[in-house]
Amino acid sequence: MVRREQLSPHLVRLTLGGDGLGSFHSTGIPDEWVGLVVPGQFQSRYYTVRSWRDGELELDIVMHDVGLVTEWATGDVVGETVVITEPRGSFAMPVSATWLMLVGDLTAMPAMARIAGHVDIPTRIWAEVPDALPGYLPNSGDVTWLEQPGDGESLLASVVESIDWPAGDGYFWMAGESAQMRAIRKHLMRERRLPATAYDVMGYWRGGIQRQPRVVDPGPIWQAGKAAGHSDEEIWAAYDEARES
Ligand SMILES: Cc1cc2nc3c(=O)[nH]c(=O)nc-3n(C[C@H](O)[C@H](O)[C@H](O)COP(=O)(O)OP(=O)(O)OC[C@H]3O[C@@H](n4cnc5c(N)ncnc54)[C@H](O)[C@@H]3O)c2cc1C
Repeated sequence: MVRREQLSPHLVRLTLGGDGLGSFHSTGIPDEWVGLVVPGQFQSRYYTVRSWRDGELELDIVMHDVGLVTEWATGDVVGETVVITEPRGSFAMPVSATWLMLVGDLTAMPAMARIAGHVDIPTRIWAEVPDALPGYLPNSGDVTWLEQPGDGESLLASVVESIDWPAGDGYFWMAGESAQMRAIRKHLMRERRLPATAYDVMGYWRGGIQRQPRVVDPGPIWQAGKAAGHSDEEIWAAYDEARES
């Protein structure tokens, strides 16, 4: 770990560097993520590759109330050695898309920032965050900032249900709290009747006081789903199920 920067009260940027990254190959997919194993742990947690350049890899970590990585990243981590897994990504905007909508909470900000910097079609963003993050998103997007209702809480599903949907072909990408994402998958399928190729909705974490979900590596589920010809939606739904089984 070569640097730790506090970007806002709830967001910390960790920069990884060194010879160990010699074999890292980005997928180039703008929402790509890696599994991160911190010192003294065996379990991984998943983080978006905010950037990869000049042999350095940036991860932006949300500091929430309690958590394995959260607690580790609170301390002085510079000089420590971590393990990351091979990157995977799921953003798959069709070439025919004429607009893009991105919706997410603070955990989705790294991916939304990278996606918005990667595309060149009109992009609208809804960001539900606990802190002001001036300059975090590229200027290209039309951004609606929403206040997060509380730690471990999100109201993004109701926001999406009230969006005025643009005309024409486009792509909808969303990530955040799992129960909100499940509600939105149903909304997109049943109310909006979108084909699975028109959206990508991912549960990044689970809030509330429910049973702790199992930590499941999305990588193998992703690979198996792709090999079986499943859509991104089917794969993310299988990931949710695996965490809750
Ligand atoms: C593909 C993918 C990409 C992701 N990218 C990012 C990223 O770039 N940055 C990022 O910060 N996170 C990202 N996440 C989410 C992150 O993996 C989870 O938030 C993870 O649980 C955090 O680990 P932890 O060790 O801090 O907490 P854990 O030990 O996993 O959880 C401890 C407790 O905190 C709760 N919790 C977990 N996350 C949150 C949260 N965000 N807010 C409130 N409560 C929470 C849990 O339900 C649990 O009760 C991503 C997840 C996926 C699947």
